[in-house]
Amino acid sequence: MAELIEDAEQISLQELGESLLEATGGDPAALHALTPPDLLEHPRVRTLWEGRPERAGWELLATRLAFEAALELGLRARVGRTLELTGTVAAAVEPPDPQVLAELVGESHRHLAGQGVLDTDMPGYGAYLRGLLERLRLRGAILHPWLEPYLAEDGNQWRIWGGRREGMPAFPLGQSRPRFPHDRYRGHRDAFDSLAATGATPTWLVDWAVRTIGVEPGMAPSLNRRMFELLDAEEVVRARPTRRGGSAYGLDPRVIAVHDVPEDGMAPSLLCCDVCRSPHAAPPEQFAAWVGTPCLRYRCPGRYQPALPEPSNYYRRLYRSRTRRRVVTAEHTGLLNRREREQLEAAFKAGTDPAAPNVVVCTPTLELGIDIGDLSAVLLTSVPRGPAAYVQRVGRAGRLTGNAFIGAFLPAGPRALYYLAQPEHMLAGEVRPPSCYLDAVEILRRQYLAYLIDLAADGAVPAPPMPPKIGLVSGAGRAPGTWLGEVVAASVVPDAPHVGEFLALFGTHLRDETAAALREFATVGLAAAVDRALAGWKARYDDLGRRRDRLKASIERLEQRPDPDDPDQRELRRLRGERYAVIVLLRELREESTLQALEGLGLLPNYTLIDDAATLEAVLWSHTEDGGFSGLRLVYQRPAAIALTEFAPGNSFYANQRRLVIDGLEIGTASEPLYQWWRLCPECAFGAPEASHRTWTACPRCRHAGIADSGARHQLLELRRVFSSDSDERTRVFDETDERERRHYQVLTTVDVDPGAVERAWQHRRVTFGMEYARVATIRSVNFGPAGRHGEQVWVAGAQLEPPRFRTCRLCGAVTGAREPGRTDHRGWCLTRSGRNEDWDHPVPYHQVETEAVRLLMPVATFEVDERLASFKAALLLGLRLDFGGEPQHLAVVVTDYPGSGGPGRRRFLVLHDTVPGGTGYLGRIADPERLRVLLDRARETIARCPCRSEGRAACHRCLLGGIDPSEIELVSRPLALELLDQLLGEWAFDPVPTIADADIGLVEESELERR
Ligand SMILES: [Zn+2]
Ligand SMILES: [Zn+2]
Ligand SMILES: [Zn+2]
Ligand SMILES: [Zn+2]
Repeated sequence: MAELIEDAEQISLQELGESLLEATGGDPAALHALTPPDLLEHPRVRTLWEGRPERAGWELLATRLAFEAALELGLRARVGRTLELTGTVAAAVEPPDPQVLAELVGESHRHLAGQGVLDTDMPGYGAYLRGLLERLRLRGAILHPWLEPYLAEDGNQWRIWGGRREGMPAFPLGQSRPRFPHDRYRGHRDAFDSLAATGATPTWLVDWAVRTIGVEPGMAPSLNRRMFELLDAEEVVRARPTRRGGSAYGLDPRVIAVHDVPEDGMAPSLLCCDVCRSPHAAPPEQFAAWVGTPCLRYRCPGRYQPALPEPSNYYRRLYRSRTRRRVVTAEHTGLLNRREREQLEAAFKAGTDPAAPNVVVCTPTLELGIDIGDLSAVLLTSVPRGPAAYVQRVGRAGRLTGNAFIGAFLPAGPRALYYLAQPEHMLAGEVRPPSCYLDAVEILRRQYLAYLIDLAADGAVPAPPMPPKIGLVSGAGRAPGTWLGEVVAASVVPDAPHVGEFLALFGTHLRDETAAALREFATVGLAAAVDRALAGWKARYDDLGRRRDRLKASIERLEQRPDPDDPDQRELRRLRGERYAVIVLLRELREESTLQALEGLGLLPNYTLIDDAATLEAVLWSHTEDGGFSGLRLVYQRPAAIALTEFAPGNSFYANQRRLVIDGLEIGTASEPLYQWWRLCPECAFGAPEASHRTWTACPRCRHAGIADSGARHQLLELRRVFSSDSDERTRVFDETDERERRHYQVLTTVDVDPGAVERAWQHRRVTFGMEYARVATIRSVNFGPAGRHGEQVWVAGAQLEPPRFRTCRLCGAVTGAREPGRTDHRGWCLTRSGRNEDWDHPVPYHQVETEAVRLLMPVATFEVDERLASFKAALLLGLRLDFGGEPQHLAVVVTDYPGSGGPGRRRFLVLHDTVPGGTGYLGRIADPERLRVLLDRARETIARCPCRSEGRAACHRCLLGGIDPSEIELVSRPLALELLDQLLGEWAFDPVPTIADADIGLVEESELERR
């Protein structure tokens, strides 16, 4: 728009509207850039840049652009960084002969007032006329074909909202809408300014006449009406009869002139009221006439003065820069399916399609090997994990020219603030390569089945062809002669050579234990794993079938109501939407390709390494124009450990520009519920399903009797699948606040080690310190409910909790209060909908992984516990990083404790565990006093000579802070870590013991008492 005006110097609003589209010369990119966002998907408009332009699309867009021009220079000219307020252009209503008009007004005034003479202090008829016309323009009283029905129907809101013309922007309630003067209308409708109103409070029009020409207030309405008749006669405004009688007046866009404001260093078009400071823009030619004119604000006593020039005017430069490229954004995340992701990458990379995204918002998927071509800028919204991740992300930019713009927005937090002060530690930090691990048994198992399936495909294992869909595989099962039956049989038969051949592929790189575990799996575990997976698939399929039937029954009940009232109709639509989604789901489940389904069932390898995923299933319904419905089903997966909070009921999950509120849990079926009553020991990390022991008198691990109390009972639900059901419209986040809502939960993570699973254990000779390696440790995280809410007090693993838990419908899994406090949105197939009484459970979702762990008993009891544990943990992580030669991303450290044998303290442990189920074998290799010494020695050396010791800091990211959780940064201190390391490494000598769980910590408590 700014360009056209600059080239023309002066142009009428009418011509401007007409030429906006012509000026593109039909260039697809320019057409796309000009199109308002709500028309980008319009079937006819989008033909303009998709290579087969339709006349109807062109006309619709042209009409819309004229409308937009009128808004920009009318109703919305004073809101935000508009063309006028940035001093780029200035518009004014310019009647053909303003002098004559002003004289005619004067004549009418004298006629009405008898022989009355104009007060010489008054600005006069010219100002009256100018202000009145500007008022019309700025209130949006500009005629446009789309506004004709609105005028004709006395400002019927429907005509500019729900019932507006195709292609017109909506003016919902609360948004200012065009306002026209009307010669009779006396009411207070938003659409009209009455010319006839004679209330105690003068209207703007009356006030204006009084302020500019000093007319008697009682006489002003007559003068104003006369004025509009004159303007109508001069074709400046046009009268439009309205249904209830009388006429509305609108400006003819031909008399609105838009002037270019030449760049003179000053802001020659901008004025400012000397009382209320409200701005006004006037074309340079009329600027002088506006200085001293009364302010257009209702009853403001101020007058306009030239505005002070702005030192720099970014927007004015931007509007005149003649670069018009629409910012088209897209999300690139692991949540996209493969087809969507590839389409996005190709479109972004090519960049030729005008609708192609040119700004991509990425999660760390950008670090993976995706190909999106060369970037000119990368903006980070957080601090990457380390220099390697940083280089990987920013290295995407500037590959073509060597130049790139890199920016980072840092959230306020200790870690980000550290790098803000020391950016070179990130920019020029040490880049460690990633590592890989072969001893991960769970992954090998999946690889092995894949290997067998390959052999079958080659004919090396005799089997019929693989059925293409999982529904067929499930139907056939593992019977002899079936594909899966033969594949499994080839491994299970005695002396089958395949497992040996498979292991031979790894040469000598596998540990003996790993090879043995895989051999056992090949002969015993495989068949069981396949059966379990198929049974799980079938149970889910059957359950969905039952839900479909129940939905059908609910729908029929509602349909039979003779005179259904409105809420029932909405309910009916919702149920139909839900049934549709369930039917689609059943079909998808049945027709999923065999290999993909087996991957999802945890039998074949996938790219995340860890198959342990939780699923969010969203069903969104929407109403169609004809009163029908449609349903949309979306599915997202997250690693189960993260899903414990991200997918917790009441939380919001953001994806594909939607906000999905988790409002239900998959609770299984009545016959096979997914949750169970458990006993969690109040004192230690032990926990087990209640049914696993006949009676509960004492904890099998710590012998504490508290486990027998009712407070130790909890309903545990393994978090596998959660739901969100909502209307499509409500989930779209465009208009909402930018803040993403994240809820917080009371999550407790514990590590339970069965002494029977401890393979090796050692105790330090002098210091209370020990280490042990457990082949299997149970890392269990339980989400006890939203933070900030309180239930009855209980103790779990030595921690005091007041868990609110999740109140959940026993019949459908809907959770109370997920969306609104106290409300439960039962699912469409819930039996409460057919009259069953509500029935509640209070489960707590959990996630558990059984994997390798190294447990270290720490010489810490009650004094500076958090600081010393965090400092040692940081040193251990540093040692691991140095030892591993890369980021050990598959390892995690948790602090845990265990009841003491007598004194006030508890035994404190640091547990280093794998996050891959079954473990990767790495910990088995380092669980040895000599290896641990080397590791801690290297860490000590780095800490002792880290430059941060002379920089007045407790620690830095080159040493202790490298791998630690941001919440622990404040706790970590180099002196504390050094003290602990020196204490241990001074005389590094160990004796083997069965376990360190029962070590005496009396000495630690004594020495801590002395320290105080
Ligand atoms: Zn003012
Ligand atoms: Zn216990
Ligand atoms: Zn329910
Ligand atoms: Zn340091």
